[in-house]
Amino acid sequence: MKSVKIVFFDAKDYDIASFESSLPLWQEKHPDAPAVEMKFYDTRLSADTVELARGTDVVCIFVNDLVTSSLIDRLAEMGVRLIALRCAGYNNVDIQAAYGKIHVVRVPAYSPYAVAEHAMALLMTSIRRIHKAYIRTRDFNFSLSGLTGFDFHGKTVGVVGTGKIGACFIRICQGFGMRVLAYDKFPNEAIRASGVEYVPLEKIWSDSDIISFHCPLTDETRHMVNAGTIAQMKKGVVLVNTSRGALIDSEALLEGIKERHVGAACLDVYEEESNVFFHDFSGHIVNDDILARLISMPNIIVTSHQAFLTQEALSNIAETTLDNIREFLASGFSVNELCYKCGKIGTCLHDHSQPCF
Ligand code: NAD
Repeated sequence: MKSVKIVFFDAKDYDIASFESSLPLWQEKHPDAPAVEMKFYDTRLSADTVELARGTDVVCIFVNDLVTSSLIDRLAEMGVRLIALRCAGYNNVDIQAAYGKIHVVRVPAYSPYAVAEHAMALLMTSIRRIHKAYIRTRDFNFSLSGLTGFDFHGKTVGVVGTGKIGACFIRICQGFGMRVLAYDKFPNEAIRASGVEYVPLEKIWSDSDIISFHCPLTDETRHMVNAGTIAQMKKGVVLVNTSRGALIDSEALLEGIKERHVGAACLDVYEEESNVFFHDFSGHIVNDDILARLISMPNIIVTSHQAFLTQEALSNIAETTLDNIREFLASGFSVNELCYKCGKIGTCLHDHSQPCF
């Protein structure tokens, strides 16, 4: 059987290690699968780098590879048949433009635990000042001044988006004895039955001590945290965003922090992250004043889109990506395909039992 050539963009050492170690195990499981040739590039997919995909069947990308309509045309013209996202979110790909030209698959779930646990890790670090205590005790400073936190037990947490990650996060919060309010466009009855109260967004804003975001980035959710919604939140509210940066208007967040209205923010994602995240800028000047100011705040913790980064998640990503590609080559479709069939950008999540075009 013909081998399949996959070119990886934005591939880091951990991506290469996980795909290289997963491939032999995956091949053992699927002896009928075609041989796989993998080529890894650290660079992002862009108009300048797209030529690296020439001669390959599959382009494998990550969250910050921006796949515009013109890039789709170039990939299709080169004969690339499949864009394989090695992530769940797909707001970086013009799904509408891809329809009828090139298939797009993603990894819908690789470890919701990884992301939910990171959200809680950020929250606990921030509220119990662990990051500050760590630096102090390394310097033999055992003072407790300025390290006062608050109990999670009995606090109200608002969870926006109760899909796979939101559901895990809710269970963690319930373990802490927190009251959970939730908002989702499509409420989940099992979550409601576990004691969670689904409420309108306005009540999430007004009643929550902590708000954690686990919904996708769409036209509807972009900047859902803005000056107007921050004003509706409790004074001292703690915001946790491990979903997509543009859910939060960063300038409005900065103002909210400066006005002491927002008590703390835990950010694993940032709306302009594609210019900086995953790169080492130590010793350089970062040309993003908002990010620099946010990072300078004592009550903001930023990690660089790290929530997914566990061994389990990486090996699940590798295995599902290889499965998606194998399924697509064998039958022309994959259960994890994204398409524009329903006519709404970013909301078509059909489980494809038939090829979509
Ligand atoms: P999911 O599809 O299982 O759940 C998303 C939930 O959001 C669904 O229940 C859906 O009904 C709900 N939703 C859709 N539109 C909404 C809206 N307008 N308002 C409120 N809720 C809405 O997805 P998931 O696996 O739980 O992932 C959630 C998000 O987490 C992804 O979209 C992705 O952006 C992000 N993510 C981040 C990382 C990371 O490393 N930081 C890793 C994986 C996923």
